[in-house]
Amino acid sequence: MPLRYFLLCLLFLLIVLGAPGLEATAQSSLDRLPGPFELEGHYVTDPNKFLKPATIRYLEANLYALDMHHKAHIQVVMVRSIGKATPHKAAAKLFDRWKIEKTYRHNGLLVLVVQDQGWVEFYIGSGLQQTLTLADCQRVGRRYMLLALHRKKYDKAIRSGVDSLIHNVAPDFRLFNPDAGEVTEAFPPDVATLARIQEQDSLAAAELAFANRPGPDNWSEGEGFLVFFSLMFMFVTTGVLLTIKHVPVLLKVLLGLVSLWVFVQVFLAGGTDSKFPASAPLSWTYGWSIAAVSLHLLIIRYRYHQEYAGASRIERYTYLIKSHRRLGFLRFMMPVPLVLYWVGHRRQLRTLRNEPYQCPECNGSMYRLAKNVEHNVLEPSQKVEETIKALDYDAWECYDCQHHLVLGYLYPKTKAKECPNCSHTTLLRKSRQVVERGNSRRRTWGWFVWECAFCQHIELVRFEEIGTQTSSHHHHHHHHHDHC
Ligand SMILES: [Zn+2]
Ligand SMILES: [Zn+2]
Ligand SMILES: [Zn+2]
Repeated sequence: MPLRYFLLCLLFLLIVLGAPGLEATAQSSLDRLPGPFELEGHYVTDPNKFLKPATIRYLEANLYALDMHHKAHIQVVMVRSIGKATPHKAAAKLFDRWKIEKTYRHNGLLVLVVQDQGWVEFYIGSGLQQTLTLADCQRVGRRYMLLALHRKKYDKAIRSGVDSLIHNVAPDFRLFNPDAGEVTEAFPPDVATLARIQEQDSLAAAELAFANRPGPDNWSEGEGFLVFFSLMFMFVTTGVLLTIKHVPVLLKVLLGLVSLWVFVQVFLAGGTDSKFPASAPLSWTYGWSIAAVSLHLLIIRYRYHQEYAGASRIERYTYLIKSHRRLGFLRFMMPVPLVLYWVGHRRQLRTLRNEPYQCPECNGSMYRLAKNVEHNVLEPSQKVEETIKALDYDAWECYDCQHHLVLGYLYPKTKAKECPNCSHTTLLRKSRQVVERGNSRRRTWGWFVWECAFCQHIELVRFEEIGTQTSSHHHHHHHHHDHC
């Protein structure tokens, strides 16, 4: 029960903490747009292919001519969606990330067209703000672009919008169509400016290559979820190990601290500008989960060899069963290392339990009696223990002298305890009797009634609880043994 609550709380915590991270991954498509220097032309970014090749050729040629003559650098971006981000913030982000201000001599202009929002956003560089105001741009958007956008005439929308913007910043620039063999005539080519642009191009490209060097800077939505679930996986593994009683305290402290540390690292790495590809946090969480489980299994094996070297087969069997309790599910979660281990573990258990014994009387070989005949050999108390699923008995019989060997295996999940009267494992909790109901000042107290299924001995265990709740599911906080 506490484990389930722990995991629920954890899930809640992770969802609350993870929500901003997931929001960020929704915008990651925008962050992965190729920048101006990763494109064949520099001026049009159209990842969802809304525009015809002829339109792109037209825009690239004219915007290049405009740029080369020092008038303005107009960067056109057309995307299907930017998620829930506002176009203004998205445009500002791209303007900043692509270093348009610095690279293009402060006369940059970014035109961001968001198809699903039916919106055109403009971002004007500082040098251009004297010749072109945001109101001018918005007028261009309303007059030439929005209606065509809504009618899905994307080529027309962008082309007439850009034509008008060019006319606004350079009224004497003559637009031309490269597909019709026209060339720019409005200005003679300026060799010095061209050289400077080319120099800046290569500088910016080198800078961009350097910035992108450590790998993808953002995780996709799928990768984000994968990391999220690997974190969940790590916490489930850690949680299970922490709630197992016989795990050494030192290992528990280590488990808690390292898991927390890994969580913090993954959380820090998962920011919007991650320096790590998603495979890094995946390998941290999964690697640590496997390491933690392996460490625990190593300790179990070490103790098995140290403390149970001289023990009987039944003692060794019981230790192995107890120590691996609740770990079985792990082989489904980390099959690579654990399936083989589990196969070996099972085989060892089978050998310990099923390998024929030697008769203690005559050293002859023994065989195990079938379930239906073994009950002729069992004591009445042992039959009761089997019926209430406290112990599972195996009975062995000698071929030669018919000597019987009876071995009891504790059911791992049994709630039965040893009866203080007859000393069989037959004491079961029957009921809970409230003697005095509490109030705001006094505790409720009463007895848990345990009864022996074999000798009918009654054992009372006192309980006390805070508050006035009398539900039998409520945990008792203190109990003292009273013999009567
Ligand atoms: Zn049996
Ligand atoms: Zn014998
Ligand atoms: Zn008894």
